[in-house]
Amino acid sequence: MKIAFMGLGAMGYPMARNLSPHHEVVVWNRTTAVAERHSSEAGTALARRPDELSDCEIVISILPTSREVDEVVDHLLPEIAAGTLWIDATSGDPSSSRATAERLLQKDVRFLDAPVSGGVPGAEAATLTFMVGAAEDDFTRARPLLELMGRRIVHVGPVGAGHAIKAITNSMMAANLWVASEALVAMRRQGFDMKVALDVINGASGRSNVTENLLPKRVIAGEWPLTFKLGLLDKDVRIAANLVHELHLASPLLALTSQLYTAATTSLGGDADYIEVLRYVAALNGDTDAWRE
Ligand code: NDP
Repeated sequence: MKIAFMGLGAMGYPMARNLSPHHEVVVWNRTTAVAERHSSEAGTALARRPDELSDCEIVISILPTSREVDEVVDHLLPEIAAGTLWIDATSGDPSSSRATAERLLQKDVRFLDAPVSGGVPGAEAATLTFMVGAAEDDFTRARPLLELMGRRIVHVGPVGAGHAIKAITNSMMAANLWVASEALVAMRRQGFDMKVALDVINGASGRSNVTENLLPKRVIAGEWPLTFKLGLLDKDVRIAANLVHELHLASPLLALTSQLYTAATTSLGGDADYIEVLRYVAALNGDTDAWRE
């Protein structure tokens, strides 16, 4: 099957690599040098312009936001073949996805939203969770492809539902990260050893994926890789906050989480790694040297 893959960022690069042994994969990336590297490392074919992808049966996009997805839809729309299935793995906006699906349907192209969870390690190991918003027959068509990149493929509802549930679950992670950061800053101030602190948290009721997997790598191992941009997490929390606002739901903690992440993103810049929130919370409390030694 000929598959167009658009967006070779932290997630897209390994996801496209996992598809390439099984299908004819043509990659496009805004910065062509990245696509050239992918082509030579993973044996994928290379497109220099999005409109070179219009004869593919499947298009997969994973870009920062729905805005960039709409831009590439604009490029492909005039030439795209009827019957194409567009799988958008971006953590996007539910209402934008529904509008995009309508736009593509005019050309007899089906669209589904399939955002992912599992981070860069999950993308590399093909163990991602996909949350799919789609019509039943489109889900059935996409599923075997998603299984080459992920382990848990969940059909959560119609188009837009994947993006909605992804934004909400990621905002839970964002709140967990913030509260765990406050906890570690408080424990550090009292002189607790951070390994002991995390051991206790992870053996008790305050534990989460953040304390079990994300913080030990930074706080204990001293490794601070860039895996997920803070600006992208800020975007996810904002999508969730807007969604619950439109539903007239009282969700004060989500609203506050959104405000905190917007402030952190303004201060640190959207390209900082999201776990920099820990250092940001320390700095709010006058400790600008925390976890920099
Ligand atoms: P990256 O910032 O690493 O990569 C972004 C990709 O989008 C790059 O290929 C970049 O191209 C491309 N891009 C950026 N701007 C444009 C534009 N204007 N037009 C066309 N292409 C553009 O992001 P991630 O891979 O981390 O994230 C991608 C999506 O996946 C986001 O929606 C994110 O929220 C989500 N996600 C990320 C996770 C993570 O752990 N990183 C986990 C789960 C979901 P270029 O090389 O030219 O910059």
